[in-house]
Amino acid sequence: MLSKKDLTDIANKIRNVPNFPKEGINFKDITPVLSDIEIFRKAVKQMAAPFMNSNIHIVVGIESRGFIFGVPIADCLNCGFVPVRKPGKLPCDTESVSYELEYGKDSLEIHKDAIEEGQNILIVDDLLATGGTAEATCKLISKSKGNIVGFTVMIELEFLLGREKLNQYNVHSLVKY
Ligand code: AMP
Repeated sequence: MLSKKDLTDIANKIRNVPNFPKEGINFKDITPVLSDIEIFRKAVKQMAAPFMNSNIHIVVGIESRGFIFGVPIADCLNCGFVPVRKPGKLPCDTESVSYELEYGKDSLEIHKDAIEEGQNILIVDDLLATGGTAEATCKLISKSKGNIVGFTVMIELEFLLGREKLNQYNVHSLVKY
C-alpha cells in the first residue's frame, strides 16, 4: 500500500509548468520524478501494485512517457512490453487508430503481431487527461483481440473526466488533481 508520505513524496516531485506547450495548459513535468531513483521506484511499484495477481501477459506503453514507466512495470509483473507509437515509427505491419484532439486528429499504431488473442493486457501512461489517447489505445488492443485488464498512470487530471471514457476497465492513478 502507498503510504501518505510516499504519495506526498511523489506528488512533490511533479512540477507544474503553466502555459506549456501552449497558453492555458498546465503541463505536469515528470522529469524530477525520473531523476530521483527512490521516488521513481516507489511510483513504478505503486502503479503495478493492483495488478500483481492479474496474470498480465503484456504491458502496453503509450509513446513516449508511457515507455519510461511501462518497461519497469512489465519487469515488476514479470511480463513482456509492447510499444504503442505515433505513425510511421514501427517498422513492421501495423494496426492503426485515429482519434480526435482538441485541434485536429492524431493516430497511434501497434505491430499487428505484438499481441496474441486473449492475452491479458495492462496499459501504461504517465498521465490521464481527456482519455482520448487511452481510448484509442484500447481500440488498437481490441483490434489485436487482447483482453484489456486495466490502465495505470501516475497522474490523473480528474476534472477532464478521462476515466468516463474507460469505465469498463480498472483505472488506477496515484496523484490526482
Ligand atoms: P489525453 O488523451 O487527453 O488523456 O492526454 C493524455 C496524454 O497527453 C498523455 O500521454 C500525457 O502524457 C499527455 N498530456 C495531456 N495533458 C497533459 C498535461 N497537462 N501535462 C503533461 N502531459 C499531458
